[in-house]
Amino acid sequence: MAEQEASGLQVLLRTLQSSLDRESILTILQVLGDMLSVGTDRRIHYMISKGGSEALLQTLVDTARTASPDYDILLPLFRLLAKVGLRDKKFGQKALELEALDVTLILARKNLSHSQNLLHCLWALRVFASSVTTGAMLGINGAMELLFKVITPYARKRTRTIRAATEVLAALLKSKSNRRRAVNRGYITILLRLHQDWHSHDTANAYVLIRQGLLLCLQHITSLRSGREAFLAAQGMEILFSTMQVSCLDDKSMEPIISAALQILRQCYPKSPLPLATASSAYAFPVPGSITSEPPHILTEEDFEDDGDEKGDKDSDSEDTKEEDDDLETDVDKLSAKPGPDRPEEELVQYEAMCLELSCSFEELESKFGDDLNLTQYVNHHHIPTAASSEQHCLNKDRSSWGQEREDTVQTSLLSMVKMGRSMVHLASKKRPVMSSRQNVQSNGLGIDSFEKKLCDIQASLKEDAWDIDMISCPRMHPSFSNSTGPRETVEVIDKLLETHPKHIPFHDPYLYMSKARRTKSVVDFEMMAFPDFWGHCPPPSAQSMLERKHGIQRFKIFEDVRRLIQPSDIINKVVYSLDEPWPLQDTASNCLRFFSKFESGNLRKAIQVREFEYDLLVNADVNSAQHQQWFYFKVSGMKAAIPYRFNIINCEKPNSQFNYGMQPTLYSVKEALLGKPTWIRTGYEICYYTNHYRQSAAATGGESAKCHYTLTFTITFPHEEDVCYLAYHYPYTYTALMTHLDILEKIVNPKQVYFRREVLCQTLGGNLCPLVTITAMPESNSADHVEQFRHRPYQVITARVHPGESNASWVMKGALEFLVSSDPVARLLRENFIFKIIPMLNPDGVINGNHRCSLRGEDLNRQWISPKAHLQPTIYHTKGLLYYLRSIGRSPVVFCDFHGHSQKKNVFLYGCSIKETLWQAECPVGTSTLLEDVSYRTLPKILDKLAPAFTMSSCSFLVEKSRAATARVVVWREVGVSRSYTMESSYCGCNQGPYQLQCQSNANGKLTLEGGPR
Ligand SMILES: [Zn+2]
Repeated sequence: MAEQEASGLQVLLRTLQSSLDRESILTILQVLGDMLSVGTDRRIHYMISKGGSEALLQTLVDTARTASPDYDILLPLFRLLAKVGLRDKKFGQKALELEALDVTLILARKNLSHSQNLLHCLWALRVFASSVTTGAMLGINGAMELLFKVITPYARKRTRTIRAATEVLAALLKSKSNRRRAVNRGYITILLRLHQDWHSHDTANAYVLIRQGLLLCLQHITSLRSGREAFLAAQGMEILFSTMQVSCLDDKSMEPIISAALQILRQCYPKSPLPLATASSAYAFPVPGSITSEPPHILTEEDFEDDGDEKGDKDSDSEDTKEEDDDLETDVDKLSAKPGPDRPEEELVQYEAMCLELSCSFEELESKFGDDLNLTQYVNHHHIPTAASSEQHCLNKDRSSWGQEREDTVQTSLLSMVKMGRSMVHLASKKRPVMSSRQNVQSNGLGIDSFEKKLCDIQASLKEDAWDIDMISCPRMHPSFSNSTGPRETVEVIDKLLETHPKHIPFHDPYLYMSKARRTKSVVDFEMMAFPDFWGHCPPPSAQSMLERKHGIQRFKIFEDVRRLIQPSDIINKVVYSLDEPWPLQDTASNCLRFFSKFESGNLRKAIQVREFEYDLLVNADVNSAQHQQWFYFKVSGMKAAIPYRFNIINCEKPNSQFNYGMQPTLYSVKEALLGKPTWIRTGYEICYYTNHYRQSAAATGGESAKCHYTLTFTITFPHEEDVCYLAYHYPYTYTALMTHLDILEKIVNPKQVYFRREVLCQTLGGNLCPLVTITAMPESNSADHVEQFRHRPYQVITARVHPGESNASWVMKGALEFLVSSDPVARLLRENFIFKIIPMLNPDGVINGNHRCSLRGEDLNRQWISPKAHLQPTIYHTKGLLYYLRSIGRSPVVFCDFHGHSQKKNVFLYGCSIKETLWQAECPVGTSTLLEDVSYRTLPKILDKLAPAFTMSSCSFLVEKSRAATARVVVWREVGVSRSYTMESSYCGCNQGPYQLQCQSNANGKLTLEGGPR
């Protein structure tokens, strides 16, 4: 701005304040008005900096205090004030000091019947009220009473004034003292009446802004507890609810009103504890050591006060949350510290036995495999002996009987998938290598006729309901121990069924699964097996796209939730399943779904039938804990076909979820499986995830404030009448599935090429064995050179499933294991160059008992790596011990990677550790230039970024956070000195980049498309 102009403006402002001449004042106001009507905010800010606000306010006060105020001056003055005041942060304070508040209120009172003058006063009041302090002062001086004289019931006249008055009132109600005053003076009732009146008359929605203003006032007042009480007493819920008929939820012109009304309804919906006797897990287990968690969590009716403005969740939108930087470790000493081992050196000797590959001499190698050379015929192993093989396998064991296994069962290799992924234009149209039933039959040596006949039999019997599907849908593990006739029949039926079992399911064998399941030790002794785990499953025939979120779905769901309170006539509220009640609770005759979850990895604590086709579900907290509800896996039966059932999981804990961004729950239909399609599919529609009205008191959580709960809601139309279906958070993968898988892998590997050794790392607290697998290539011969090369291959250590709810980590691990033993040239190369030490499940107990996050001690094992104890966190203690041992013999792994699942992001990505990147990110200048850092941690992510279609570099992070100091990744990096130490995260949901990205497709009616899976 030019110097001349600057001085010119100052002269004008000074003249304005001092002049008594009407004409000069009018002229100056005219000039200022012209000046500010063009140009940018910069001009206004400049004027403010030169004392513009003060000059205008002073002129206002002087003019208003004359015997007969001159409105020719006041009106343009108010317009300027409104304009300048909006940009001046200290405007309220200035107005207060210059006593402009009082004069404006007086002017407004004088002009109650003069719309034009009044409107100008209101504009000024609105900017005064934008400061909370000034707003409070206006409240003391009677501004609200004045406004209620302006805000009248429905009228077609003076609507601009009414609108301005509602806006001033809403601004005033940002002050807490004004809110209290509003409650005490009964304004809630007045506002509700006004709302009703405007709502009923304004049928054309011509005055949406006035109605929104009134609701905004209510919203502010009801953020106070006393406000909510007054609102409820005044039938506010009923009144607002009646405003929002379902038909208008979608009406764009009503948008601001609906949004404000819903906000108030959610805010005022009485908070209550969850419908559970205790938040503590239904499962308890005596464990060594004191459990750090909390006293029993009795849920009581109590004060769930939260006086702050509750922020309702937005209806979808921004998926990526900004990460906080203040968690970064900025202490260079801590970052570069190399702590010594957490145990005496002599304790490491025990791990020598887990590294037999370093001492094996392969004396028998030549002769043994020489004999095997002519064994080239496939041996079909669909009937693997059920007796468990010795957990400790040594290579000396005679493997010749396993023969030359069919490596072709190791299906499409990663690399060929990669290559396909790159060249594929439309992955969606690509069929996965799932064999057709005809091919299956041939590959299994069964006559086509006989198979098809059996299939027909099954189809017929399913139609006739000749079989009790409930009986076979969840088979017992110990059928022979029972002397009643029921289970015996089950055995026969299962046996009969297994004759037609689709044996093409790779790496699966139901008999083996059953025998393994008997050895799996659960906290409450599960006696049943979930059908999908036992029977096995095939991938869906084509890739499934994510679900497109229907616009406004969340408000429809919340509206329905509020309706329970207002129109309870159709509310049933009947508990139909509960782990806390004596079993069986179910009334099988009644007209409701039947639930069950007492099987491995199962998680459902309680089911409440809310309406005829709507159920509230509560999931169980982790064993010996009162939190971490997120994972679910349960059986549901007794459904009608073609009926949309709504399910609400009402005690979720995470603040957001991929269920808001295209993720669907997974479903397995037993009828479909028996018809030859044993497949978990993504299903459900009208899915959303939002804060509900359930609170857990601060006392119960041990925290500072009441804890919120979240509802995951989804609707499912089941594929068959009277089917048995399983529903899960994600494709389940049990501990028994792992043990079965390892048995099969061990038997199919080509012992001439693959060194595959399986042993026990340790026993878990629950008495289960934690497997450790070693995979590398067999030496070419037992010559000294070859054995030497074999022994000197660098190590890679891979772990997974420390978090039981992250079943996707197990699927990634399953693929990794199958790939590593396969005949793929890349796999061969990897075997020849590395020794893989794999612990596929770091938390078997958690997986078995349906936990989401923790071990049986109720603690997150991935926060225990700094000083694990053998008797408290055995799997972590011994994994770390093995790593220490490798370091102690100079064989620290070149890569450590821990597989996880990510609930908030898409794609696959790595977290690593870098001192420099951490310090840079934290903008911490200390020594970054002189600090030397091995940058090899970058190589692997870069390679993956080039090769792996699901991988995304953009979600990778190499920052070291304080809150992650006790995780595997950080401890292995810091203590064992592995620079390539990673957490690999795989989305629960899917990919939004690369060839696996599929366009969201709306699933209009949401029904399962049985032929070819859902589209
Ligand atoms: Zn995890």
